[in-house]
Amino acid sequence: MSTAPLNSLLVAKFGGTSVANFDAMIRSADIVLSNPAVRLVVLSASAGVTNLLIALAEGKDPDRRAYHLDEIRRIQYAIVDRLDNGQVIREEIDRMLDNIAMLSEAAGLATSNALTDELVSHGELMSTLLFVEVMRQRQAPAQWFDIRKIMRTDDRFGRAEPDGAALKELARTSLLPRLAESLIITQGFIGSEPKGRTTTLGRGGSDYTAALLGEALQASRIDIWTDVPGIYTTDPRVVPEARRIDEISFEEAAEMATFGAKILHPATLLPAVRSDIPVFVGSSKDPHAGGTLVCNKTAHPPLFRALALRRRQTLLTLHSLNMLQARGFLAEVFNILARHFISVDLITTSEVSVALTMDTTGSNTIGDSLLTTALLTELSSLCRVEVEENLALIALIGNNLSQACGVGKDVFGVLDPFNIRLICYGASSHNLCFLVPGADAEQVVKTLHSNLFE
Ligand code: ADP
Ligand code: ASP
Ligand code: MG
Repeated sequence: MSTAPLNSLLVAKFGGTSVANFDAMIRSADIVLSNPAVRLVVLSASAGVTNLLIALAEGKDPDRRAYHLDEIRRIQYAIVDRLDNGQVIREEIDRMLDNIAMLSEAAGLATSNALTDELVSHGELMSTLLFVEVMRQRQAPAQWFDIRKIMRTDDRFGRAEPDGAALKELARTSLLPRLAESLIITQGFIGSEPKGRTTTLGRGGSDYTAALLGEALQASRIDIWTDVPGIYTTDPRVVPEARRIDEISFEEAAEMATFGAKILHPATLLPAVRSDIPVFVGSSKDPHAGGTLVCNKTAHPPLFRALALRRRQTLLTLHSLNMLQARGFLAEVFNILARHFISVDLITTSEVSVALTMDTTGSNTIGDSLLTTALLTELSSLCRVEVEENLALIALIGNNLSQACGVGKDVFGVLDPFNIRLICYGASSHNLCFLVPGADAEQVVKTLHSNLFE
């Protein structure tokens, strides 16, 4: 493989399905090899492994432990078995599996977020070890790199925030010299906190890792290889008629990711926007099918761009007569939420009540219930709290939406069979969001898509 100058370096990230098994890894390795500018490869765990590790970390069902461990072993051994020289790597994978077994026994006794992250990190550690071997089998020398050496984070296990300045410095001193020598394979999703314990960046966090590394190394592009050939007008699994978007702006794609389009982790575009690095999204199953380029500006941004869907939303309605002609009630509510690390997502207010949803993006690996008893108790001391669960947030993403006429009619005119529980419109010119009962969500997306995009 010829080595490209580092000033035109590309970072390529492969998601779980792209490293799910030996054939998928070979396809991904060939994508890497087809472009000499790709010098740094960021990987997720093989598909399914993170979920199994989380099940072990929850420690709830000791009878299922052996089953989960076997399943992880089966997924990883299926790759080892296809390697020409698999003996050494088998021993390394066995060591990882022993570690997983030991940690899951500990989780059976007492769970903790730190232990969960330690356990879960093994998914990315194993997939990267295996991928290095696959690259070797393709006669392409590659080095394994432990990203925890440079991805320093805070200690919010399950949802840790990386230290961008430290990453830039450490990438320059510890990673850049290695990149000059050979292709580097490293882990997405994981990092380390000040005491050296392993952390994770929230589900789907490998996209974020790739973008942060792209920024730290001033990459010329970040390639996200997944199981669909680009970003579509909505999730093609929900609406098969969804169309691929060839070019989309950072703002539009960031809105899509924030409002639930799983194709990109919500924070992925922050580093890309900051450093103006284009992001390409394509399918490792079909690399020649093209994809979507996310960049600073696109020609002719349309009024309606895409629909995103976020499930399992909880609506909190807070009633208090003290709100009547009073000041500071909302400040108090926001204070309580901030103390519980909750950021408010949608919000509407009336004379004596306020209704809000909580931002569940990147929610931790243990579960997605942010509504703890402690939070409810504190809120209840201030006001009457009503909780409605199992709603879905639908976001229409577009451009200049709040300046256009007829948007309300275009959207709600076709949704009369459905209960619209809450509407947010006007704060951003890029979105119109509303809540519907969870059971109606897919039908609402289908109806809107066929009226606005087909
Ligand atoms: P990876 O494991 O590669 O990170 P993900 O499962 O996280 O992949 O994301 C890819 C999935 O995102 C697709 O399979 C698709 O179902 C879903 N998705 C949601 N919204 C969209 C969208 N607007 N366009 C394309 N895919 C989407
Ligand atoms: N393996 C992690 C997850 O499943 C991170 C990722 O895939 O991006 O959430
Ligand atoms: Mg993902």
